[in-house]
Amino acid sequence: MVYKIDVIACLSDNYAYLLRDEDSGAAVVIDAPEAAPILAAVEAAGGRLDALLLTHHHGDHIEGAAEIVERTGAKRIGAAADAHRLPPLDRAVVDGEAFSVGPLAFRVIATPGHTRGHIAYHAPMARALFCGDTLFSLGCGRLFEGSAADMWDSLLRLAALPPETAVCPGHEYTASNGRFALTVDPDNAALAERLAEVEALRATGRPTVPVPLKQERLTNPFLRAGDPELAERLGLAGRPAVEVFAELRRLKDSFR
Ligand code: ZN
Ligand code: FE
Repeated sequence: MVYKIDVIACLSDNYAYLLRDEDSGAAVVIDAPEAAPILAAVEAAGGRLDALLLTHHHGDHIEGAAEIVERTGAKRIGAAADAHRLPPLDRAVVDGEAFSVGPLAFRVIATPGHTRGHIAYHAPMARALFCGDTLFSLGCGRLFEGSAADMWDSLLRLAALPPETAVCPGHEYTASNGRFALTVDPDNAALAERLAEVEALRATGRPTVPVPLKQERLTNPFLRAGDPELAERLGLAGRPAVEVFAELRRLKDSFR
């Protein structure tokens, strides 16, 4: 099977994704920030949309859902835990659940932290991870409804996926995340290399994602909270990774 992922720019810095199996034509969209660009991408790919997968209830991830469903008949899939604040779901899913849309296979990973009911979708055959506002390139989501420990656990679950997994996050925050990352991890050569790449991509208006998980594991400070050197730089030598993570999140929240 040949899988194709389109990155769809929405609103000011959101991304939705169109994942298609080219053989069967089966197609899903992950998140619905805005109907028009998503419908245009679906149309350009042949007009078929089988399902709309939602990562969490924030407006910038669901606002286009009603119009997209009305126009395409796509089935809405989202977290059972958040069914009360998501658009009406045709299928409510829970952590660890596997489901398929035609030949497109997914597994649900609960990733509380940004919101309580946030979920990520892993598509093992397509080697892709749709992680909404949990993991960003060089960053992670803000802790609106969860603790640092919740988010750290969620990130560990995502980081444990196969290294070649293409990380598909919900926002284009990479350049600003990178400026913060440099302040806590200035000697990281892989980070410097990634930042040069990000600058070149953004200079021509191209997305910096998807990004391979293995690259994020080397460059994203929030995935590197267990690294002894990073802990030491933050004055937390020998402290548990979750404490280092909490400090990183705190510093990032006040970073300008
Ligand atoms: Zn959000
Ligand atoms: Fe968001």
